[in-house]
Amino acid sequence: MAGETAAGLIYFDHAATTPLDPRVREAMEPYFSDAFGNPSELHQPGRRARRALDEARAAVAAALNAREREIVFTSGGTEADNLALFGVARRFPPGHLIVSAVEHQAVLEAARALNRQGWDVDFVPVDAHGVVDRAAYEAAFRDDTRLVSIMLANNVVGTLQPVAELAAVAHERGVVFHTDAVQAVGSVPVDVEALGVDLLTVSAHKLYGPKGVGALYVRSGTRLEPLLYGGGHERRLRSGTENVPGIVGFAAALRLAVDELERTARHVAALRDRLVKGVLERVPEVRYLGHPQRRLPGNAAFAVRYVEGEAMLLGLDQHGIAVSTGSACAAGSLEPSHVLLAMGLRPDEAHGSLRVTLGRENTEAEVERFLEVFPTVVARLRDMSPLCARG
Ligand code: PLP
Repeated sequence: MAGETAAGLIYFDHAATTPLDPRVREAMEPYFSDAFGNPSELHQPGRRARRALDEARAAVAAALNAREREIVFTSGGTEADNLALFGVARRFPPGHLIVSAVEHQAVLEAARALNRQGWDVDFVPVDAHGVVDRAAYEAAFRDDTRLVSIMLANNVVGTLQPVAELAAVAHERGVVFHTDAVQAVGSVPVDVEALGVDLLTVSAHKLYGPKGVGALYVRSGTRLEPLLYGGGHERRLRSGTENVPGIVGFAAALRLAVDELERTARHVAALRDRLVKGVLERVPEVRYLGHPQRRLPGNAAFAVRYVEGEAMLLGLDQHGIAVSTGSACAAGSLEPSHVLLAMGLRPDEAHGSLRVTLGRENTEAEVERFLEVFPTVVARLRDMSPLCARG
């Protein structure tokens, strides 16, 4: 089932965002028009919106093997991550927090903000594949450690962390465990009971749903302070009239993603494997980044020597192929990715990174087209590069 992208465009940046599935848009449409009610009101339009919200909550809970009362809808992954970190931290006097060195900015910057407020933060290192260093993780715990936040799947290299094991370590020490599962949900099975986590972040726009909506799973008994105060709409943890169309779309998208998960994972992993093999065969001096097996099915990340990631991105864009570098961030900064540096890449290697993330609407023909174009783009850039040893 295809999402919709502009004619002729090859979209290989699904880790940044996914197209809205037309079935999701159809499910959302009534809530932009006749079913516009405020779910907090008791009249018919209000009750209709409330029913939609309740059904969406039940669907999201079922998809994650959670209970309905454990789902708090938010404005997306960033808000859910902030709610997890600040929500737990605000219940305690400043203490100690553990996060991995490869978290998304939504967790890293929240942790840095807590640090400015008097919290000690340990940024646990990772190995060359991006997997959290288990010994360093265990050694980081202190008597005043209040929270651990370690992502399930990395957004740059796709590496999956052994979250169930890491959560068990935290629980042996009585510490609350949060995981940012934004890149994982919809791509790999995610079950909050199997993972044993207390808090888990999801975002709709990474799984063919709309932007600006997500959720924080909050295990019953996990105590948080809200970020937003007001009418207490979402379990008293998040105030503000709910984004009913967005939440309906989120639930529809998640239902589809879970129903089609196995087929999609097989499809994108086969495309990814073809693409990686082709790149390694056709372009010299390229390294495939991330864990060889324990990774998201659609992620292929590379370090290409002697070229800048941004130059490759723009070169491919001229051919109508949309990819990402490992270094781009919301601010458009050209800093090398903290994820790649944490994995031990030198800054010049990290600058030459490219992230290709495949989705369910991609085809073999698109991968073949990429494999025709990419070697020519790299060769042209290397011809111009003063760094490239020729001859
Ligand atoms: N966490 C991870 C791992 C992400 O990849 C992203 C989005 O790029 C976010 C959090 C932020 O989610 P949102 O865009 O819904 O705020």
